[in-house]
Amino acid sequence: MHTKSLTELAQGLRSGEFSSVELTQHFLKRIKQYHDLNTYITVTEEIALQNAIAADARLASGQGAALTGIPMAQKDIFCTLDIKTSCGSKMLDNFIAPYNATVVEKFNQAGAVLLGKLNMDEFAMGSSNETSYYGAVKNPWNINTVPGGSSGGSGAAVASRLASCATGTDTGGSIRQPAAHCGITGLKPTYGRVSRYGMIAYASSLDQGGPMARSAEDAAILLQTMAGFDPKDSTSVDLSVPDYSAGLNNSLAGLKIGLPKEFFSTDLNSDMAATLKTAINEYRKLGAEIKEVSMPNLKLAIPAYYVIAPAECSANLSRFDGVRFGYRCENPVDLTDLYTRSRGEGFGKEVKRRILMGTYALSTGYYDAYYVKAQKIRRLISDDFKNALTEVDVIMGPVTPTPAFGIGEKIADPIEMYLSDIYTIAINLAGLPALSIPAGFINDLPVGLQIIGNYFTEDRLLNIAHQYQQVTDWHQHTPKGFE
Ligand code: GLN
Repeated sequence: MHTKSLTELAQGLRSGEFSSVELTQHFLKRIKQYHDLNTYITVTEEIALQNAIAADARLASGQGAALTGIPMAQKDIFCTLDIKTSCGSKMLDNFIAPYNATVVEKFNQAGAVLLGKLNMDEFAMGSSNETSYYGAVKNPWNINTVPGGSSGGSGAAVASRLASCATGTDTGGSIRQPAAHCGITGLKPTYGRVSRYGMIAYASSLDQGGPMARSAEDAAILLQTMAGFDPKDSTSVDLSVPDYSAGLNNSLAGLKIGLPKEFFSTDLNSDMAATLKTAINEYRKLGAEIKEVSMPNLKLAIPAYYVIAPAECSANLSRFDGVRFGYRCENPVDLTDLYTRSRGEGFGKEVKRRILMGTYALSTGYYDAYYVKAQKIRRLISDDFKNALTEVDVIMGPVTPTPAFGIGEKIADPIEMYLSDIYTIAINLAGLPALSIPAGFINDLPVGLQIIGNYFTEDRLLNIAHQYQQVTDWHQHTPKGFE
């Protein structure tokens, strides 16, 4: 049952091949069996079975939606009513959310079954899932390598079939990079397409939730449920939601694909370059035209991001003060002691590093030199994309510089870790949609191809991804031992 696509699962539920309770029990059993991957922070077994019973009743009455009865899991950054929502941090280890994130609410209304909450880098800061308070997640393709981050639990759980699909969030690459490392399909929507209400904030002007699934076809079904205007999120965009599945089979004849020369420079690992060339060649066969484009400011994306994201996180994380939410130190002697010890003991090293960097960048005397300058660079990067996207329909490139790296390999060197996102971060600064699809293997580890589109063209991106998945089978490979 765990090998089926979302459409096949929906059919199986309707034809009576299996019930949602049976399907849910099957996934719960797998989660226990492969517990060592550490993909889940919380398994909501009882809730899952209650959801499944309700879904079976709904299906029996003929009222099910596309996801009714389908077991899925949420990244532990989305608030879930009465369920622990840790954000991968000791700070929120005891936090039971008092409300549902809009995304969670939408899945509930669709009748999806919640299997649990997935592991992630602490407060979504990381590229390897190693900053999680709950320990590293193992990549099912090779358990000595990382699954990517920060949505590493989502990537690994979907790849190892411990959930039929999952949510992720992407501030600088956290959906696309784990999708690439785990051999699944991950879409970061346009900023404002999916509500951020109840999604614990890291860097509010960059954060965006999106689907992590086995195929573009599945991702389209998930995005259909997730997308849409939300009056509770002031940055949510009030634009109608298209039918994401309707255009999946559209022809790609005449599609103009841009390849930024900055992405394919000599810096790109030669195996990676060769794999991506083969993938892009498939698009040529499908009728696309390929053109080189130039985006001279892309190289400034990492430095700009590592000013803007920490600046926003230093403000967002100031709410974790030992008073209102989560962790509180023992026996504080006064208020200052309460603040400093609660934060000092509750946050991990990387989170503290970001808060320090952000506070510094925002402080008087440095604000203009760092923060204002980074914002100007952000505009230049957006303009680079805007210009390129007048010449071509989509831009393609790598997702990551290399396939999954070893657990422990980069954790001691933050700069090396930050460079893992060199191909994804600019897209968040511009607010554009982009997805990662499996495009081959290097040393038995999956490689992702990134496809970047213009604002609110998720339907076209999914169509482009789906067409590739009709002529290749990279997305159907399963890691050994998890079949
Ligand atoms: N790896 C990047 C960071 O650490 C991006 C994380 C994300 O997209 N949430 O900030």
